[in-house]
Amino acid sequence: MKIITRFAPSPTGKLHIGSARTALFNYLFTRHAGGTYLLRIEDTDKERSTAESEKNILDGLKWFGIDFDNPEKIMRQSERTSIYKKHIEKLIADGHAFISKETPVKEGGREEVIRFKNPNKKISFDDMIRGTIEFDTTELGDFVIAKSLEEPIFHLTNVVDDIEMGITHIIRGEDHISNTPRQILIWEAIGAPRAIYAHIPLILATDRSKLSKRHGAVSIVEYAEKGYLPEALMNYLAMLGWNPGIDKEVFSKEELVELFDITKVQKGGAIFNEEKLKWINKEHIKMAPRAEIIERIKAYFPPGKELPKNSELFFADLVERISIFSDVKELVGKGELNYFFEAPTYDAKSLVWKKDTPENSKVHLLAVLAKLENISESASIPETANDFSVESVKNAIWPYAEEKGKGNVLWPLRFALSGQDKSPDPFTLASILGKEESLLRIKNAISLL
Ligand code: GLU
Repeated sequence: MKIITRFAPSPTGKLHIGSARTALFNYLFTRHAGGTYLLRIEDTDKERSTAESEKNILDGLKWFGIDFDNPEKIMRQSERTSIYKKHIEKLIADGHAFISKETPVKEGGREEVIRFKNPNKKISFDDMIRGTIEFDTTELGDFVIAKSLEEPIFHLTNVVDDIEMGITHIIRGEDHISNTPRQILIWEAIGAPRAIYAHIPLILATDRSKLSKRHGAVSIVEYAEKGYLPEALMNYLAMLGWNPGIDKEVFSKEELVELFDITKVQKGGAIFNEEKLKWINKEHIKMAPRAEIIERIKAYFPPGKELPKNSELFFADLVERISIFSDVKELVGKGELNYFFEAPTYDAKSLVWKKDTPENSKVHLLAVLAKLENISESASIPETANDFSVESVKNAIWPYAEEKGKGNVLWPLRFALSGQDKSPDPFTLASILGKEESLLRIKNAISLL
């Protein structure tokens, strides 16, 4: 059987991470099986559907990395009225639906709607995640399927399209379980082979309530703006309620496609944990092509500033310090990266280690200066043949620091280079800044003591 699935968002808000996960489970299931994945916009609710929301959903899916097999023209239910009309007329002609005279209860209410003729029977379906679900449809009564021939409502359009599109598997949120009995009745009345359902559990907040705005960011754009990598969010959302049963947590999209098994998705709600997502993001940052990561990081740097000499090491160090790209923004905002772009200014007193004197600090810095002056630095290709490497800087200074006391020697050096209480170690700093800049900063510190 050729598998055909769809993602059918209603454009009534931003793309929520729960919906993105539904789109993702459909995607992984379909791509794993070599099936066809279709997109359909369910915009029959004219009051709540907006073009802005549709754009947010489409942009969000694109950023997230989900692609569909019907991209040429967006399929919108609002443009398919004549198709639904034909089906409603046929349902009426076949005795499965009828025009019902109503007494309007509220203002603007209809005097006439189209109701489905409920056969009042028991139905059951085998959900790929939840197993067999049984339902007595009697309690649903003769439910409304359209306000008029030209105004179908959700249950009808949803089923008609799934039938017309040849959908074989319906993977959607658990909140749709209660809709399924009505939809199965319509499905049977139209007389098409029924699709297989999979209702995926909700995403919960840490307090086990349904994840919503009051818990923080819930839309995909917000995660994009915070500086998450789409492949990391995909990795994390895939594992929210599913795991491949192996001792590994970081997966590429291709690996997820290969491993995904919808029948292994858990029934219970899955708790969203942003700390875990950050951890996964950091892992993906480490795996991503460095050039791409550098471009993302650079976007947060103050404009017009020159990068330090050993920029490769600078980025390698910076990548270790961040989990998401907005962390760079924060570091820049707090001025914690300033010393990479320009010589620091500080109070001379700060150069002295707490157990030492200014005189001694000066002696140590002079000694360090002489040792660093002796290291050669290849000027031609500094990034590949930088002899002023962390290792050579460390080798030059370490014995002296051990002899005179590490704090006494390394604190003034680190402070001379960074002007900060906290920064990378002085060997890394010196290597990042390069020989010329490091010597200049040390000389400046010496002149202050
Ligand atoms: N339009 C529905 C929603 O956005 C989806 C219905 C379905 O997947 O069957 O929740």
